[in-house]
Amino acid sequence: MSKSARAALDYPALRRKLTKARARGMPDFLEDRGRRLLDAWLATSASEARPLPRTLARLASGDAAREIGEITGAQIRAEQPEVLTNAACAAGCAFCCILLEGDGGLIGEAEATALHGALAPFAGQPDGRAWHAHACAALDPETRQCRAYEARPTVCRSFLSVDAEACRENAEGGDEDGSGMLGNHLDYLTVLALSREVMRGTALLHTYSLEALAQAACDGAPLDAALKAARHPTSELEETCEDIGNSPS
Ligand code: SF4
Ligand code: SF4
Repeated sequence: MSKSARAALDYPALRRKLTKARARGMPDFLEDRGRRLLDAWLATSASEARPLPRTLARLASGDAAREIGEITGAQIRAEQPEVLTNAACAAGCAFCCILLEGDGGLIGEAEATALHGALAPFAGQPDGRAWHAHACAALDPETRQCRAYEARPTVCRSFLSVDAEACRENAEGGDEDGSGMLGNHLDYLTVLALSREVMRGTALLHTYSLEALAQAACDGAPLDAALKAARHPTSELEETCEDIGNSPS
């Protein structure tokens, strides 16, 4: 980040930029909600006199989006929606960690860095791919539990299902109902897209492939190399938002 760009930014300027920011591809109601959430986060950061450089770094790394997604996820869980009380999820039930489509999901730099840190100690050991060719490398191939559980990204924390058998069939290429994302994942993606707009001209906000990052970490790549290997083209975030905007409600 250049000194002149940093000098031009303060909390009021960030909040003004946010009023014009777009989460391209996202439906308007999600964009409006994300804007309110991020504005509240910035207002709190200002009122608590959080150092601006740290706030800018958290916006650029996606850590602000991660924190906001975590807060709204906790609110959803506190309401105990039916999908949650009926969830079939259990430790070792890892069909959702078989990544047949896409690249395992989109994660921000803060999540990618945390995931790499959690997996680096396991580098060179048998990983999830020893259980299933398309499994996330973060899995323990024996217990089928996530070896980066505390550092797992929002996309993993938000996925759940009321039907483990449907998950098993989907992991074999099926198209069964019963699984999906809690709404906080949409908050995460929306705030990530808005953060990128707010930081435009100041710092680049990158996104990464969960699958590629986990593989690189388990193969022993240092953080810089793992991030480089897993980095998305800049269009990926917008395309992910467009997929959500185009999906049937
Ligand atoms: S989402 Fe499906 S595969 Fe994953 S833990 Fe829940 S029931 Fe099991
Ligand atoms: S990071 Fe953990 S929870 Fe997420 S897909 Fe990989 S093994 Fe599953």
